[in-house]
Amino acid sequence: MREVVILGSSGSIGTQALEIIAANPDSFRVIAITSAGTNPALVIEQAKAFNVAFVGVVNNADIIREALPGVKVIDGPFASTEIASIECDVVLNGITGSIGLGPTLAALDAGNTLALANKESLVAAGELVMSKARAHQILPVDSEHSAIWQSSLAGKKEEIARLILTASGGAFIDRADLSDVSVKDALKHPTWSMGAVVTINSATLVNKGLEIIEAHHLFGVPYNKIEAVIHRQSVVHSMVEFVDGSTIAQASPPNMKGAIAYALSFPGRLAKATAPINWSVMHNWSFEPIDQGKFPSIALARHCGELGGGMPTIFNAANETAVEAFIDGKIAFSSIVSVVESVVTESEGSAPLTLRDLADVRAIEDDAKSRTRNHLLRLAP
Ligand code: MG
Repeated sequence: MREVVILGSSGSIGTQALEIIAANPDSFRVIAITSAGTNPALVIEQAKAFNVAFVGVVNNADIIREALPGVKVIDGPFASTEIASIECDVVLNGITGSIGLGPTLAALDAGNTLALANKESLVAAGELVMSKARAHQILPVDSEHSAIWQSSLAGKKEEIARLILTASGGAFIDRADLSDVSVKDALKHPTWSMGAVVTINSATLVNKGLEIIEAHHLFGVPYNKIEAVIHRQSVVHSMVEFVDGSTIAQASPPNMKGAIAYALSFPGRLAKATAPINWSVMHNWSFEPIDQGKFPSIALARHCGELGGGMPTIFNAANETAVEAFIDGKIAFSSIVSVVESVVTESEGSAPLTLRDLADVRAIEDDAKSRTRNHLLRLAP
């Protein structure tokens, strides 16, 4: 029986994790859940269904506390950070955005195994996070990184020649003109169902840029050995090329459950975690290079990753701010990456080279966000 803490329980990763756990009651017990609390009815329902001991929320704590006698409700902006340090077998961090960094550091400091879906932790503070983690303490949940992890088991670390991340291409892979994309268009993803921010990040391919940085930190592979290719079907989740020329891929229909289940049950595999590929019908799997001119976000992310220090932090903070402005209808879709690029360009040479702690990261982010807002003001109609 594994005791699990789920951070971000009402999001896409959290709800799917709870479905996996509900289907395997003999293998897992949920001891705590956290979320923003903006949907208190869902929090209450989850807490009751899994009979959790702790609930962490930012909003609506009074309503939730009243509905859950006997449950310790921790509230405020640090609830997830506090709950991440509760002793357990695995903490699943399914929070979206760099606000997931504090809980990541808390889980690692407490010695908990961390199933990490929050890629921004590794983008905003990759060196800091990895310096706190012992070997195998962080288990990837992002589907590409789970695939690389699973594929990498076929050889030794020093035998890895390249990591190849697959990208669906997002909503606009076949759309030539991205100048008049609406928020509604951008929120429609062809193969994956995810939260709003991740879906927008898929459409700009910023998500793949973040994942290149994430892969660099998780697997200790240099940037010039990490590539991304368009694979529209999202069935091959990523690949590892070894020095002998052999490429090992991990494949399953597009669904996060396989990746979530593998991180929760490693080194075992959970029966029926996800539906397998149906080989009684024909499949065409395609792989194509990414059009770097149409999607400048990949090169920009790679550039920030190579510079290291505070540059990926700035890249992510600028993107989070620009995406928020796009969702609020304040800027055009095509302005998201151009604004991020402007902020990155003006930051080069002045960004801190090392991040000592969470306070350092937050200071860099606050500065980058306010500079991004200045750029956004200039774009406003
Ligand atoms: Mg992914």
